[in-house]
Amino acid sequence: MKRNSNGQSDLKDADTVERTGKDVLVLGIAMATIIMFVGTGGTAMAQVVRWLQGIGLPPDRLLTNALLLNIALIIFGWRRYRDLADEVQTRSRAEAHARELAETDPLTGCLNRRSIGPASNRLLAESLNRGEHVALVMIDIDNFKRLNDCNGHAAGDAVLRETARRVNAILPPRALLARLGGDEFACTIPFESVRPETIDRIAGELIEAICQPVLADGLLIEGATVSLGLARAELAPGKMASAQQLLHMADIAMYHSKKAGKNRYYWFEDQMENELRFRSELEAGIRAGIALGEFVPFYEPQVDLKTGNISGFEMLARWQSPTHGLVGPDVFIPIAEEIGVIGELSESVIRQALEDARIWNPSLTLSVNISPLQLRDPWFSQKLLKLLVTANFPPSRLEIEITESCLHENLGLVRSLITSLKNQGIRISLDDFGTGYSSLSQLRTLPFDRIKIDRSFIATLSENKDSLTIVQAITSLGNGLGLPITAEGVESAQVMEELRRLGEFKAQGYFYGKPASGAEIMERLEGLGLLLDDMRSPRPKPKAVVQQSDAA
Ligand code: C2E
Ligand code: CA
Ligand code: CA
Repeated sequence: MKRNSNGQSDLKDADTVERTGKDVLVLGIAMATIIMFVGTGGTAMAQVVRWLQGIGLPPDRLLTNALLLNIALIIFGWRRYRDLADEVQTRSRAEAHARELAETDPLTGCLNRRSIGPASNRLLAESLNRGEHVALVMIDIDNFKRLNDCNGHAAGDAVLRETARRVNAILPPRALLARLGGDEFACTIPFESVRPETIDRIAGELIEAICQPVLADGLLIEGATVSLGLARAELAPGKMASAQQLLHMADIAMYHSKKAGKNRYYWFEDQMENELRFRSELEAGIRAGIALGEFVPFYEPQVDLKTGNISGFEMLARWQSPTHGLVGPDVFIPIAEEIGVIGELSESVIRQALEDARIWNPSLTLSVNISPLQLRDPWFSQKLLKLLVTANFPPSRLEIEITESCLHENLGLVRSLITSLKNQGIRISLDDFGTGYSSLSQLRTLPFDRIKIDRSFIATLSENKDSLTIVQAITSLGNGLGLPITAEGVESAQVMEELRRLGEFKAQGYFYGKPASGAEIMERLEGLGLLLDDMRSPRPKPKAVVQQSDAA
């Protein structure tokens, strides 16, 4: 027997050959029996019947035995035939069941990732013959992971089943629907070549339908949104597309919808592919850059408004990329979060910042920004403490800035983390306050040390009445809760004066200095006499007043 990597099907072939041999034998015996029956039955049967009626001689013994054997063989043959027919039926049922299992997704009953390609290719060929075009729609539920984490997997499964049901109800009769895995679905839809708007209409209906609440286990699950990517094959003789190509294009378009803010659809366009290539170059660059030490801390001064003294610095990460130049955090932080390297990146810049800050005057604080994803890391506070201990940096000089948006996810975890950091002596600021709609009760129950008013309100303070009202409100809120306030984004003397009138603040912004490298900051601090004594040339320690000439 031939055995190769496909040994199983060889075995099956051998089995089939053996069975076919037996069946031929049975068929041969049956044929012979019938011929014998016709040959002997005609004479012997008549003799037996006559003898039984008492009108003839006893039948020839040999013939009678042959006849009995014949009848036995016919019964045996019939039985064997029936068994065979049963076996064939059972087998083909089992095969159909196995095929179905291999081709469908057990949760939703849709096709699966393996079968959508071949099935779509068949549909493409069929549509070409009918003179139709085909669209591929990629569907991805935007916030499925959160939905699953918050409501449990049973609820997540219910959402997936209901999504499949709703999509199926919208799709035209010959369309195909597959679940590719997780929360990703793909539909292949044939459409009349003169009516491409059909697919736009279907896409709109899909978004609308999937967003409706789902009732799972008595739980009403709301707030799901969905991003779609569409690609079309305009079929013509000699111009055929493959399902694989279409899936790839629709996937890129879907990714584009996500980037553009989710809960929408986009048709694939060629330039999207270039964007995606650029994006994966960035991803690779970020991964490599962390290991190569290309991420460095920059620092923005924070000033006490009352005295005008520098009280510390906010560390803002920069990427010194050999290909892209100096890149800001708004570009690389979201990517680093998405590809799961934010913790590593953050640790690397904090480590350098602690090293830089060690030679600053001990009265100066260091603030670092922490991503919401890092707050979910159960080892976060241990990691931070290890960095502090290694750098021999007192926790009391470190301030952690977390944004308001962190508070919406897993408040309990954030609370215990904040408490544990505070127990070590680290202080916590609530960053970008005013943009994230945190409730006042949350503010009261979380032990923050400071509020930072978002720069969007500060920058427009002197010209926009609404901004003034908001800043006033936040100020009295801070005073009421006993929380000191930092105003970010002070760009002019006018805004600084306005803030002075409103109350006591710390301030930061381009007016006091743009973010600068560790070396530049060291130089500046040296000029102000704010480096540790043994780090600077001996001269009398001047008062650390920030003058206009210091401002950027
Ligand atoms: P942020 O914490 O709100 O930081 C202040 C941002 O405003 C900085 O932008 C700063 O350069 C800019 N800025 C400061 N003063 C002014 C001003 O007067 N006018 C204007 N127009 N802008 C001003 P940057 O450095 O691009 O940082 C952007 C954001 O990136 C930061 O916002 C922070 O949330 C995040 N980020 C920076 N470094 C890190 C980091 O190491 N880890 C994490 N997770 N996030 C970081
Ligand atoms: Ca900040
Ligand atoms: Ca901020």
